[in-house]
Amino acid sequence: MKLRFAPSPTGYLHVGGARTALFNWLLARRSGGVFLLRIEDTDRNRSRPEHVDAITAGLAWLGLEWDEGPVFQADGAERHRRDALRLLAEGRAYRDFTSQEEFAKARDAAVAAGTGAVTRLSRELAARVPPEEGAERAAAGEPFALRFQVPDGATAWDDLVHGPTRFDNAEIDDFVILRSDGTPTYNLAVVSDDAEARITHVVRGDDHISNTPKQILLYEALSRPVPAFGHLPMILGPDGKRLSKRHGAQAVGSYQEEGVLPEAMTNYLALLGWSPGTDEELLSREALVARFSLERVLKKGAVFDPEKLRWLNGQHIARTETEVLAELLRRRLALGAPVALDAPVALDAAFLRMTAALAPRSRTLAEMADGARPYVGPLSGYDPKAARKTWGRNPDQAAKTLSALVEALARAPVPWNDEALEAELRGLAVELGVGAGKVFQPLRLALTGRSASPGIFDVLAILGRERSIRRVEAALAVVRGGEFDCSAPAQGV
Ligand code: GLU
Repeated sequence: MKLRFAPSPTGYLHVGGARTALFNWLLARRSGGVFLLRIEDTDRNRSRPEHVDAITAGLAWLGLEWDEGPVFQADGAERHRRDALRLLAEGRAYRDFTSQEEFAKARDAAVAAGTGAVTRLSRELAARVPPEEGAERAAAGEPFALRFQVPDGATAWDDLVHGPTRFDNAEIDDFVILRSDGTPTYNLAVVSDDAEARITHVVRGDDHISNTPKQILLYEALSRPVPAFGHLPMILGPDGKRLSKRHGAQAVGSYQEEGVLPEAMTNYLALLGWSPGTDEELLSREALVARFSLERVLKKGAVFDPEKLRWLNGQHIARTETEVLAELLRRRLALGAPVALDAPVALDAAFLRMTAALAPRSRTLAEMADGARPYVGPLSGYDPKAARKTWGRNPDQAAKTLSALVEALARAPVPWNDEALEAELRGLAVELGVGAGKVFQPLRLALTGRSASPGIFDVLAILGRERSIRRVEAALAVVRGGEFDCSAPAQGV
């Protein structure tokens, strides 16, 4: 099998394009075939080199390495023209000198007269100029469009997704293959390129279905083998409408920025329109390669749900080795620095423990970096709501608890270990005559500034003895000051 992904570099790599690329890549890998990347840059006004870079970077991030290319469609312009002129020479295409205004007028008149289909109107209008006269006018430099002469009959193929598909040729316009400025149109260029590259399977979005009969007709007219075609279902927003900007970010890069792992992204994209045939949702790249097939591609539209993607990403994060995850988190903290770092982050035991503690609680690396905030930098203050609730309701009791905590933490055997700390804190709760939660919760808030965090013994181990004690002391000062609405930082702790 030889497959290709043929994006137009008119924007970033979006979810739909990435899914098309993935399905082609999976088919190539599964069959031991070849995956070609072709940049369809014939639209000079809209194509941009930075979009080429964004697309190749997106594919590289997803791990969809291509075996051939990138080839640039514009480099094939001479061949495209040759193929078009061959069709003219063989009587399969004709010159059309009709101006757009003339055509629009004739079409409006035909519609008003109710003469039915106008698909052969361009042929009728062009026929007013006999071929010999057309050749002379062309030789004299008059611009013309080259139209493919659609034969009578029907065009059918066995779509790899939709099954037998058929178009009546009477519904297909004599479409332009060379514009009056001499540039090839998409349908001609794509057939010329796919034939040249000996593509065996064309797998692309449903939006191309109506192009397929035109392309099959061109293959036949050019006496080139017709590849197999498969059309993937449209991607929809959660409201069932075609995916668009108002459904949220569509750029693959924005999910990369958010800290979605490439494995999770490919896993999610694979499930957009394909099913493994079981309830399984968590599939590694290897599992996808082993199990993907077009037979299991659904015909109806697939809903893109960013929340589901984040959930799936959380599953992948939870299954990623701590060392690997720690390195990703370290890089994110060092680069993005959404967090004020105390010092360059080292992958020490505390950092690994923090990573392991945050992993099951984070859906994205961005959430993970946010969760890491209280540990890798100074405390930026206390969540005011939590402070009012946990300390403010009974400040005297809170102060008593916090001061007892300072002593208990100072008393716990050094080096700290979970068991000894737990014994110490539970003993403290008994001493104070309260449930363990009444000790853990004020402590959690003192240590992290938040009401939710990983387990308290994780938090204590990550922060270590000195910082933990300093933070409880700082919290005690705040509670004694009676200012619970403070989101002001507790300096230097
Ligand atoms: N360049 C076309 C697009 O971006 C794809 C053409 C194809 O896959 O045949 O939609």
